[in-house]
Amino acid sequence: MLVYMAIAGIGGLAVGSFLNLCADRLPRNQSIVRPRSYCESCGRHIENRHLIPVISYLWLRGRCGYCSAHIPLRSPVVELATGLSFAFLYWNYGYTVELGIALVYASLLILVSAIDVGTQLILDRVVYPGMALALIFSLAWPGLGPARAGLGGAIGLAALLMPFLLYRRGMGLGDVKFGGLVGLMTGYPLVFVALFLAVTTGGVVAVLLLVLRVRGRRDPVPFGPFLALAAAVTLLWGDTLWAWYTSWLSGGP
Ligand SMILES: [Zn+2]
Repeated sequence: MLVYMAIAGIGGLAVGSFLNLCADRLPRNQSIVRPRSYCESCGRHIENRHLIPVISYLWLRGRCGYCSAHIPLRSPVVELATGLSFAFLYWNYGYTVELGIALVYASLLILVSAIDVGTQLILDRVVYPGMALALIFSLAWPGLGPARAGLGGAIGLAALLMPFLLYRRGMGLGDVKFGGLVGLMTGYPLVFVALFLAVTTGGVVAVLLLVLRVRGRRDPVPFGPFLALAAAVTLLWGDTLWAWYTSWLSGGP
């Protein structure tokens, strides 16, 4: 088991490295296939020995090997997050169809979060293919299916469209579409768990940042990462959370 978890983790580090490349290039409309990795500052191709996830970052002390420009901290964070989630998902799902779907979803959610934190954007180019995948995956995900997924997607879209139309500021149309994607992934009724978790965690963190004066009242806090984390928690433990909620509604066990 441990050996396979380690293999999944190492695979995750490599996928994380590719997600970083996507997060750099997709917002600029650049190809994610060519050219191979280069330094954002001096433009030189990065040698293979400097492309080892996390280790290269530590070895080079977070700087480019040629021009010593800073490599963004996002780079090792995304690699580590992807590696750890892949190892965890293998441990959780074992060698199943769900594992395959969960690995794709983890990559998608991490990519959306990384781009949103860096640019405040959630790209159609990531969300639309994600929606198509989620609809297909709903056929294989236990207890879901296209009807529940579609209804969840509609609820996710509608729930975030309201604050978007009412306030405009702070939430973009990208968040609304991402809400639709998360709804497709989690389906009805678990989409309510995902929305609840995203709004409460996002709200608590936004207030904390304001109170601690890390951010001012006018600085936007990207909502994408909260929605992504909420989607992940819901896919993993949503059934249990929903069962608690319904038993609490009906007066408890
Ligand atoms: Zn450089």
